[in-house]
Amino acid sequence: MDVSTQEERQAIRESVRELCRDFPDAYWREVDKKEDYPLAFVEALTKSGYLAALIPEEYGGAGLGITDAGIILEEINRSGCNSGACHAQMYTMGTLLRHGSEEQKQRYLPGVARGEIRLQAFAVTEPNAGSETTRIETKAVRHGDRYVVNGQKIFISRVKQSDLMLLLARTTPYDELKDKTRGLSVFIVDLRDVQGKLEAQPLDMMINHHTNTVFFEDVEIPAENLIGEEGMGFRYIIDGWNAERILIAAEAIGDGRWFTERASAYARDRVVFGRPIGMNQGIQFPIAQAYAHIEAADLMRFEAAAKFDRREKCGAEANMAKYLASEAAWEAANVCLNTFGGYGFARDYDVERKFRETRLLSVAPVSNNLVLAFLGQNVLGMPKSY
Ligand SMILES: Cc1cc2nc3c(=O)[nH]c(=O)nc-3n(C[C@H](O)[C@H](O)[C@H](O)COP(=O)(O)OP(=O)(O)OC[C@H]3O[C@@H](n4cnc5c(N)ncnc54)[C@H](O)[C@@H]3O)c2cc1C
Repeated sequence: MDVSTQEERQAIRESVRELCRDFPDAYWREVDKKEDYPLAFVEALTKSGYLAALIPEEYGGAGLGITDAGIILEEINRSGCNSGACHAQMYTMGTLLRHGSEEQKQRYLPGVARGEIRLQAFAVTEPNAGSETTRIETKAVRHGDRYVVNGQKIFISRVKQSDLMLLLARTTPYDELKDKTRGLSVFIVDLRDVQGKLEAQPLDMMINHHTNTVFFEDVEIPAENLIGEEGMGFRYIIDGWNAERILIAAEAIGDGRWFTERASAYARDRVVFGRPIGMNQGIQFPIAQAYAHIEAADLMRFEAAAKFDRREKCGAEANMAKYLASEAAWEAANVCLNTFGGYGFARDYDVERKFRETRLLSVAPVSNNLVLAFLGQNVLGMPKSY
């Protein structure tokens, strides 16, 4: 993979913006209100090749790096669209690319790149484990050439909108393990042809991510759908965390810019007490402050992405970028809501929708507390806090 030039990055930005212009605020408002899946948007993104950004060219993808993939997600969110509808494919891609067999990649990736197969679901979280992933209980037991899965997952997004789901399940009981990070395995579940009972019950959530509780009852997965080595799944998932954090940071930067752009435009136009509200320091300075924080977080995001693309260690930068960007985006969200006053709460202005969407980034797919725990422990050498 070649590192992209500034001109190429600018071209990606402009082209994604152009695509997003066909999906204006009203489109997302309607999708959000009806809790629909933004199918037309996802299809357009697939057709443009941007959804397959991280798939290598030999499998039909664009073969771009994390820096460029992040720019795509940033521009989607900055345009007022919602990358949540499709980002999981980019988050999960690394697990398949790095640890999947050649046969698995040949079987799935060209179809994913062409948009014929959607890989948009990733099932990790469980009610009894929460952030302590090594405590998950959903088990996969090998019987000959199949694994039989029983258990329950929670908060699993887009199960009904996806053809493939990556599943993390326990293949060795917790108590039998010396190293508690072993004993978990990653599988590709083909949702188009489920053997056994897999039930996805939609959850009533604050944002439109099509999130479910998923029940597995004797679900059979062919052994050939095991990714990599049995028992190494947690390692494989961890390997993907830096990429995921960098991509979330990029989404947050996009949201943050959307908020500060909308807030400053509104502050210039809205006249109260005979002058634009943006003349008041109580309105102007918080917007400027949020802007500064977003720009600072953006530097860390690009530093992390550049290191990732150079295949250098980037755990510290990726975690800092995720933390700083999600916090800056949330600050900008609050500032924007304050700037719009009562109108910020009116759905027609889109601020409240974005406000809800950006709030997620501090919590999922990983909470900022755990990001700080990484920094405290692995960068600053303090004792493990969990
Ligand atoms: C809209 C949405 C979509 C999601 N989609 C998916 C998906 O597709 N697939 C999937 O697998 N998961 C998904 N999740 C789940 C998400 O990844 C988890 O909610 C998140 O990782 C936190 O886990 P938890 O909710 O169990 O929180 P808990 O682990 O119960 O933690 C609750 C709070 O306590 C804090 N906490 C816990 N332990 C410590 C500690 N030792 N030190 C400091 N703080 C601590 C946490 O940081 C958090 O703030 C989704 C969640 C949401 C809300």
